[in-house]
Amino acid sequence: MKKLTRRDLLGLSAVAIVASPALALTSRLAFAADAPRLDPNDAQASALAYTHQSAKAGSNCANCQLYSAGAGAAWGPCAIFPGKQVAGAGWCSAWVKRAG
Ligand code: SF4
Repeated sequence: MKKLTRRDLLGLSAVAIVASPALALTSRLAFAADAPRLDPNDAQASALAYTHQSAKAGSNCANCQLYSAGAGAAWGPCAIFPGKQVAGAGWCSAWVKRAG
């Protein structure tokens, strides 16, 4: 069995440092895609009048600052409802116009 040299350990550390953020991002994206859809009847969703289909012209989750999926994504994460996906066409009373 080959003994690990100091150089080997430094190389492994460098790989770990480079790979960790990529793995974290990948697992976060995988989680977001697998997260359940928010139930509008959920207590918090109901308190914020969340709906899957916005009735407010020009305001929906896809153009809300708190929506972290792309503007064209049909479903995505929202900072107000962690662990759930909200509809891009949805809306709630916490809507904040996306900057830029
Ligand atoms: S805060 Fe409300 S409007 Fe904004 S993305 Fe979340 S659910 Fe949609």
